[in-house]
Amino acid sequence: MVSEPHIDSYYVASANSRTDYAPLRGAKRANVCVIGAGFTGIATALNLAERGYDVHVVEANKIGWGASGRNGGQMVAGIAGEARIEKTLGAGGADMLWEMRWAGHDIIRQRIEQYGIDCDLKHGYADVAIKARDVRKLQKELERLEQRNFPHEYRLLHREETCATIGSDAYIAALVNMGDGHLHPLNLCIGEANAAVANGATIHEDSPVLRIDHGSRPTVITGHGSVSADIVVLAGNAYHRIARKLRRVMLPVNSYIIATQPLSDEQLASVNPLDLAISDLKFVIEYYRLSADKRLLFGGRCNYSGDDPAVIETGLRPRMLKVYPQLADVEIDYAWGGRIGVPLHRVPQIGRLAPNVFYSQGYTGHGINVTHIAGQILADAIGGTFERFDVFAGIKPVLLPGAHSFSKPLAALAILYYQIRDRL
Ligand SMILES: Cc1cc2nc3c(=O)[nH]c(=O)nc-3n(C[C@H](O)[C@H](O)[C@H](O)COP(=O)(O)OP(=O)(O)OC[C@H]3O[C@@H](n4cnc5c(N)ncnc54)[C@H](O)[C@@H]3O)c2cc1C
Repeated sequence: MVSEPHIDSYYVASANSRTDYAPLRGAKRANVCVIGAGFTGIATALNLAERGYDVHVVEANKIGWGASGRNGGQMVAGIAGEARIEKTLGAGGADMLWEMRWAGHDIIRQRIEQYGIDCDLKHGYADVAIKARDVRKLQKELERLEQRNFPHEYRLLHREETCATIGSDAYIAALVNMGDGHLHPLNLCIGEANAAVANGATIHEDSPVLRIDHGSRPTVITGHGSVSADIVVLAGNAYHRIARKLRRVMLPVNSYIIATQPLSDEQLASVNPLDLAISDLKFVIEYYRLSADKRLLFGGRCNYSGDDPAVIETGLRPRMLKVYPQLADVEIDYAWGGRIGVPLHRVPQIGRLAPNVFYSQGYTGHGINVTHIAGQILADAIGGTFERFDVFAGIKPVLLPGAHSFSKPLAALAILYYQIRDRL
């Protein structure tokens, strides 16, 4: 395995700083060794470091190199597979789940404030409806917000209001929710990593982990060093190749984003004038928002699995123009993609490979929120509190034979299936 630099994305170009933590060299010891410096790994490390653990994070590439530094930046509540999770919970379970649904946002807001992280956080989000069945989903969600006395502003918009709010006539309704929002994910990830280091954690970049030697004291091995620890946490999500067992339960699905040049004031008057994060309700979703410097960041699927910006632009630009035809003359400055971990039953996978080897992965499109909850759940479990950990660890994964070896064609087939369902 060879370390790779960050990809060429809008986020890398606008990062507050570059990180340059030294690679792992020699034999080290720690209480906890975390593999992977995306949101899962960093949130876990920060939680543990704040609680006084000696934590080492070992990252193959750079902090936020994976999905965490490439995503749509949409801070959306909810946990994929909620219905399935709720079924497994006893009395009081629905309340716990509702609380967890939003918990990641509170952690993020608190981290930003406590550590002074500059990551362009803005509140305001809209789910938009294309079909009548989407409107029914929005109405159901509205009822849940009402029943739970949701503390933030929210409103169901009908067709004309939706057109005016989104700046597009592509939708028939929208549910605007000021509790969700959007942010610069790479700057958040780097800010949290620096906070973990300030609390005593050690981070090693450019250090691909080759294997874990299991035992009473598991040891994480890289090309030039090792960390022997009481506990190892595997946080490589859709990018890791170390634990074959974890790859059989999740499909790595690619999603892509294009970033336009900064829009003019005139264009901004008609494109997303309230500066919301916006997402449709298809299985294969399209999501978009404005960056702090007023580019439209438009994300979705391409029938492609590579990383050529020209091909990504060719795939996504027509979709963007379907929503915003007024942007026909706008240049695309960046185009990139990343890998999302999608479990076959959609429920995030938080569990243990051995009594002293924990993992968390597979948040589908809700990773910004759920990784922050997962970091806390893992730190609690390492500290001996298993209440929320057991909720997830108790849900049996669905295994897909061959998922490890044939992930690309299987992911393409799954997407095709969902694209057909979206059209029905
Ligand atoms: C294009 C795109 C758009 C998305 N949009 C959104 C969105 O708008 N909102 C949202 O909530 N979620 C979104 N997601 C999902 C979200 O980004 C992820 O769920 C989340 O970032 C996962 O974080 P993670 O830390 O688990 O994994 P990653 O961020 O992928 O981190 C895994 C890390 O592990 C490292 N690693 C892997 N193997 C090894 C090894 N052997 N040794 C050492 N290190 C290793 C990798 O280098 C990587 O840095 C999107 C994802 C993508 C790709």
